[in-house]
Formats: sequence, C-alpha cells, structure tokens
Amino acid sequence: MIAGIELGGTKTVVAIGSTAGLVIEECRFPTTSPDETLGFAIDWLSARGEPVSIGIAAFGPIGIVPNRGNYGQVLATPKPGWAGFSLTGAFAHAFPEAILTLDTDVNAAALAEARIGAAAGLEDVVYITIGTGIGGGILSGGRLIHGALHPEFGHLKVPRMSGDDFPGICPFHGDCLEGLASGPAIAARWGASAHALSADHPAWDTQAWYLAHGILALLAIVSPSRVIVGGGVSQAEGLHRRINERLVEIAAGYFPQVLEPNYVVPPALGQEAGICGAFMLVR
Ligand code: ADP
Ligand code: ZN
Repeated sequence: MIAGIELGGTKTVVAIGSTAGLVIEECRFPTTSPDETLGFAIDWLSARGEPVSIGIAAFGPIGIVPNRGNYGQVLATPKPGWAGFSLTGAFAHAFPEAILTLDTDVNAAALAEARIGAAAGLEDVVYITIGTGIGGGILSGGRLIHGALHPEFGHLKVPRMSGDDFPGICPFHGDCLEGLASGPAIAARWGASAHALSADHPAWDTQAWYLAHGILALLAIVSPSRVIVGGGVSQAEGLHRRINERLVEIAAGYFPQVLEPNYVVPPALGQEAGICGAFMLVR
C-alpha cells in the first residue's frame, strides 16, 4: 500500500494509490490544527492497512533537506499552531516501518503535471499556484529544485505597475508577489473576492502584469519550457491568455519560449495534481 498526503493551507487530501500517480481511494477534509489534521489522515490510512511508503506534499515553508535539524518540520508559517510541527515525526510515530518522502505541494504538482499532465514529457517545468498564497514548484532537467530551503516564488519582489500604490499584504514583505497578487491581496485591493470579479474587471490586467513579471524572472533563471498556473484564482476566465500576452510584451523579443501558443497554461490534473505528485515522490 502506497499512501499520499497533500497538506494544503485550507484543505488536506489523503489517499492510497500507485507511484505512477493513480489514485485508488481518497478523502478530502479541511486543514485544522496539526494534531487533528494529521490524526484524521493517520486514522483514515490505518483503517486501510499499513503503508509501505508515504509521499507527503505540504504547504511551505517546510524543512525538506535531509540531515538538517529541521527536516520534516513546518517552518515559519503564520498559520496558527503549525510552526515547528514535525510532519514526518507524526507519520513515523504512526507507521514506523514506512518510508517517508517529503516535498512541497507545488513541487509535487510540478512533477505530476510534467509526467502525466499539462507538461507531459517536458523536463523543465514550473508549477505556480495562486490561491490563499502564491507558490511555485520547479522541475529542472527532470529534477525537483530544493536548494537550502526550497523555492519561494511568492516572495519574489516584482516591479510595480505604474500608478499602483497598494501597499501589499504579505506579513513579512508587504509588496512581494504574494502580497500584491494572491487571492487575499485581490480582495484587499479591490474590496471583493477574486471569484466575484467579472472577467473584464481591471483587477485581471493588474494580476496579469504582476504574474507575468514573476514568470519573467523564472525565464531568466531556470528557463522553463512551460509554465502551469493553477490554484483558485487561476480559474478566472481569460487569465492565462492575459498573462501570455503581457509576458510576450515584457520579454521584448528575448526568451523564444514565450512565443509558443501555450506557454502559460492551466493544470491538466486540476485538483488532483498535488495528490498525484505525492505518490510520484515515493521512490
Ligand atoms: P488555497 O490556496 O487555500 O488552497 P484556493 O487555491 O482554492 O485555496 O484559492 C482560493 C482563492 O481563489 C480565493 O481567493 C478565491 O477568491 C479564489 N477563487 C476561487 N474561485 C475563483 C474563480 N472562479 N475565479 C477567480 N478566483 C477564484
Ligand atoms: Zn512575502
């Protein structure tokens, strides 16, 4: 039995499946306190057997570098009660024989989309989510990028759109990309939730401007062959097209990838990208 868990800021998915990303059975529930959330996932799995391996895909920041003191822990998150909680500790306690593999939710989603989704067969792929926060997972040369922590695409500083004086809402940086363009940033800036804004609302031009500048930075550093933009806010009609158009403009003739008709695309696996990726993390 292979288990996967995708731990999100608002919801968690626990499932059993295969390392090819096939989900056999899954359960979705709200993310609450660490003890309650992990307790529920562990009880659900225990009722189905003893997993041989568990792939854990979690919201960041998390310690994912093996042999560091903070491996397996949730790090400095504003989410109450989670900072310092050991995800791997909870699973190791419940299933001492299981092999645990941990990565970010967005790295897992990038892996799944690159194997069986919107970037199938590509080795240089970025997966961006725009929801309560903004995150990015990076597959480069077929390998997930980690680094000393892991990529934190949402906390990139991007140039200001002319005339924009919205201060931003990131508790750490104010006007980083997440502070300017996440779902809660849209709500704070325009006084209405992202899902309530019509397709021709000026918010979407602003969104496309900031996201295109974030993606331009990725082009300059990791040169992805395709960029997948998912998360709740990405469901806004026409957003991918607007980002592509703005990106072509600001790339200014450089970065030939952006001229491909489908450079920035929605995920093909939709809500399942993270949990499929969690299985694929298992070696
Ligand atoms: P989380 O990041 O917590 O997992 P989601 O990815 O579901 O959450 O993102 C939630 C955000 O997505 C909210 O800000 C919500 O307003 C926005 N959202 C949901 N549906 C849509 C939609 N159809 N169009 C634009 N924004 C949407
Ligand atoms: Zn920030």
